Amino acid sequence: MEELEYQVGLLNAMNQKLSKDEKMLRLICETSNSAFLYYNYDEGKIRTLANWNHFFDFTITDIRDFNRLYECVEEQYIIPLKEILFIEKQGLKSQSIDVKLKGKRLCVEVEVSVVYDALGNPTDKIIRFKDVTKFNSQNDELTYLAYYDSLTGLYNRNYFVRHLGEYIRRAEDENETVAVMFLDIDDFRRINDGMGLIIGDELVQLFGQFLSGLMGDNIIISHFNSDIFCIAIYSPCGARSIETLYRTIWERLKTPFRLSSGQEIFLTVSVGVAEYPEAATKALELINCAEIVMFKAKSMGKDKVLYYNGAILDDFIKKVTIENKLKDAVFRQNFTMYYQPQFRTNDKALRGVEALIRWKDDNGKMISPAVFIPIAEKSGAIVPIGTWVIEESLHAFAEWKRKYHYPMVLSLNISAIQYRQPDFIDNVIRLMDKYDVSPAEIELEITESILIDDFKEITEKLVLLRDIGVKISLDDFGTGYSSLSYLKGLPIDTLKIDKSFIDTVITDENTRIITESIIYMVKKLGFETIAEGVETEEQFQYLTEIDCDNIQGYFLGKPMPSDKIENLLADMTA
Ligand code: C2E
Ligand code: CA
Ligand code: CA
Repeated sequence: MEELEYQVGLLNAMNQKLSKDEKMLRLICETSNSAFLYYNYDEGKIRTLANWNHFFDFTITDIRDFNRLYECVEEQYIIPLKEILFIEKQGLKSQSIDVKLKGKRLCVEVEVSVVYDALGNPTDKIIRFKDVTKFNSQNDELTYLAYYDSLTGLYNRNYFVRHLGEYIRRAEDENETVAVMFLDIDDFRRINDGMGLIIGDELVQLFGQFLSGLMGDNIIISHFNSDIFCIAIYSPCGARSIETLYRTIWERLKTPFRLSSGQEIFLTVSVGVAEYPEAATKALELINCAEIVMFKAKSMGKDKVLYYNGAILDDFIKKVTIENKLKDAVFRQNFTMYYQPQFRTNDKALRGVEALIRWKDDNGKMISPAVFIPIAEKSGAIVPIGTWVIEESLHAFAEWKRKYHYPMVLSLNISAIQYRQPDFIDNVIRLMDKYDVSPAEIELEITESILIDDFKEITEKLVLLRDIGVKISLDDFGTGYSSLSYLKGLPIDTLKIDKSFIDTVITDENTRIITESIIYMVKKLGFETIAEGVETEEQFQYLTEIDCDNIQGYFLGKPMPSDKIENLLADMTA
């Protein structure tokens, strides 16, 4: 009897433990976001467990009920689902697939696991249904972001490079060509700065939409970033020739883009074209070549298409070489300053000097500022170079002052990028203080192109500089806009008539008439005049006669180092 009581007690305890374990398992199932089917091969029965109702509105008790499952998945998943539900036929232990439920927009991972006995016969089968809708939609989004550009809906750079690589491989097999057109919207920075980034984005979007209409067989179009688009064409000819595509784009750009605000904006683009195999044999190199050609198109006045040729690449390599050497020269301050004297015509006395930078590269070769300054302006190196020029020239000027006490002006060439620096004015003031040079002794030279690009911002700064007493001089007058009427509104003191006028002033009647009227008008406006590039006595005499105030040029003095200027000053003060 005692033995029986003991056995009953033991059974009860075991039952209690079992029901606890079962409860725990049920809880785990129910909180798992999944539903389960359990099939025991001996019983031949199926049980549904956990969140079944989340997925289906019917139950399954028998293998034949599987038909209900096939009915509720989208067509393309029926066969894979049938296969996976019976993996034991292939002796597999476990496998999973994703299916989409019809109408429910649910994405479900179906995982089937089969348990086998020691003889290899299946004993139990568990089928788990897991909701992966959220996970998959995130994946779709990631896939989209990996291939497409979200602003324009066009392919992105990554996809383009891959696809271009495929075009090239195919072209290699089929002995074909592949062209890349690299497009860049002209003056986009000005649109962005002047009208705001949102308008810039909207324009890029509209232009991108238009380009997407040009996609077709063997043409892919992509938006790289900002205002850059790239087109790859497999075997360009006929309707997909570069000429036809460019003409279509060019014709479209004859009409403006209409923004959501109702505003209408015209665009132009510069296009560089490079072809496989002529320009390069690899996707990235081909894109690079097309980009270099596009830069060349920009430098040739924009709004045009240009085709790759070896000379463009050579030019570019030369430029990059200078750019790299320039970085090093900035680091080591491998520059010197030369100064070119300017003389007054009335008393032949020295009016002042123009500071002109000189650069000797490591091989002792002199590189002209006309070559390296534009490169330094593009790379940004002009900022440290410009500061060095100001400091070095003020330093020399202070020495001349200390030694000779001769009243004169120091003219400095200043690039637009320097004016745009927020601390430009403060720096000039700081350096004038440091070398004890007064603002009235300084003249800053600007070119008309500076004013055309950033008129408001730069004229504001010029006004501030003039307020403290610095002179402003308009350089190279006659090469740009050259409208006399707009001069009236400019905050300038001096006007430098460009060498191109002086060159023909003796030989050409028309130049003479223009030069005379410029000098007459400019003097009436109250500006001082300087004629640049005066090389002969005849030019000098003539300019003196027509009342030009000052002369600068090889005839009276070439640019020279500081000690030669000292000789001049010594003569002047003797
Ligand atoms: P620019 O400001 O028009 O300077 C005058 C240029 O004409 C100088 O060339 C000068 O050497 C040259 N020149 C002067 N008189 C004559 C002449 O009678 N005949 C001939 N054939 N040429 C004459 P340079 O020094 O080669 O400078 C070229 C340009 O480089 C300058 O043109 C200026 O735009 C730029 N530059 C020079 N130094 C600087 C600088 O320190 N900063 C900046 N931003 N630009 C500079
Ligand atoms: Ca100048
Ligand atoms: Ca000049």
